[in-house]
Amino acid sequence: MSIIVQKFGGTSVASVTHIEHVARLIMAARNAGDQVAVVVSAMGDQTDRLDSLANEVDFNKPASRREVDVLLSTGEQITIAVLAMTLMKFGCAARSFTGAQAGILTNSSHTRARIQQIDTGALQNSIDDGEVPVIAGFQGVDEFGNITTFGRGGSDTTAVALAVVLKARECQIFTDVKGVYTTDPRVVDSARCMDQVTFEEMLELASLGSNVLHSRAVAFAGKYQMPLRVLSTFDDTPGTLITIEDESTMEQPIISGIAFTRDEAKLTVLGVKDVPGVAWRILGPISEADIEVDMIVQNVAADNTTDFTFTVSRDDYVQAMDILQQTTGITGIGAREVTGDNRIAKLSIVGVGMKMHAGVASRMFEVLAEKAINIQMISTSEIKISVVIAEEYIELAARALHAAFDLAEDSLTGK
Ligand code: ASP
Ligand code: MG
Repeated sequence: MSIIVQKFGGTSVASVTHIEHVARLIMAARNAGDQVAVVVSAMGDQTDRLDSLANEVDFNKPASRREVDVLLSTGEQITIAVLAMTLMKFGCAARSFTGAQAGILTNSSHTRARIQQIDTGALQNSIDDGEVPVIAGFQGVDEFGNITTFGRGGSDTTAVALAVVLKARECQIFTDVKGVYTTDPRVVDSARCMDQVTFEEMLELASLGSNVLHSRAVAFAGKYQMPLRVLSTFDDTPGTLITIEDESTMEQPIISGIAFTRDEAKLTVLGVKDVPGVAWRILGPISEADIEVDMIVQNVAADNTTDFTFTVSRDDYVQAMDILQQTTGITGIGAREVTGDNRIAKLSIVGVGMKMHAGVASRMFEVLAEKAINIQMISTSEIKISVVIAEEYIELAARALHAAFDLAEDSLTGK
């Protein structure tokens, strides 16, 4: 018999009634012939509440991360017990497992722990005994027996990791949307739920603010080529299958999706000397402050000075600006001025089809030009073209590009 791992997110297990519905879905999958292992999140927004409880203790100082893990992990522990009880009520053998009981060993990096090893013995026994193991998402245990958690949204990663070690045929992520959309349906009415997308594309879409999957989970699934399906708990449709690139995905449109995030800011150091070491002197202090830099552009002027521009997440804007103002003054890189803008947004078009088609970038720029949208920065990879534009144009740009690249229509089925 083949195994599937099913993961249910917070909105899917928000109440006992929701959990009863989830139990029925699990039992239906068993009746269809699969053995099922289940991973769950905390009920509703329980993790947010636990998090604010931790903050309430001391507003001035962050709480001990070890204790935060002990606290946050209780959310999932509630769900596993309630779901196991519910399955039993319906006559389905079940057993709950905390991360530690499921054999999930992590490093000791509290609140952002990484899985090191999974001892599947206990889970395998439970499955062999005909039970449904119900495992707490987003938690594990370190070598000293401390409870650890993986960072917000980490239950997806638990599910994928278990699917890999249990050699599941598929890992199903149940959520409150129908699947992965070509772009944000709240912004573009004609956004379409995709049947299939590659790991590579999903990784770009996930890291760009299409919030349906944790990007670490996508990377993990891609590495082990574990087919991942995103589907709705509340709607009986097949959802979106995330899988490897094959003949069927080759036929897909050139562009699969459009992702955008408003949460960006850019900083520019004007008129620095065009000499070795400048980029490092500007960005070194930024990275020392643990601020993540995304796009970087440097343009050289005729007078041997350059303007150096980079983007950071909007939350880091003020701190990054402070750091720049201090460092440009003291390191002698000869900066004329530091400017910035935190009303920018990043939009990316993503598609493996770009590998085989030329002219995608120029088509994108043409569409933006037609709407008179100024492009401030550009970066590209093999399967992605990203632009930075003024935040106020982001919705207009998304709609225009969605239409121009025919994303509303499924090119294979013509639906
Ligand atoms: N409950 C955790 C969170 O809300 C983990 C998860 O749901 O993936 O972040
Ligand atoms: Mg989630």
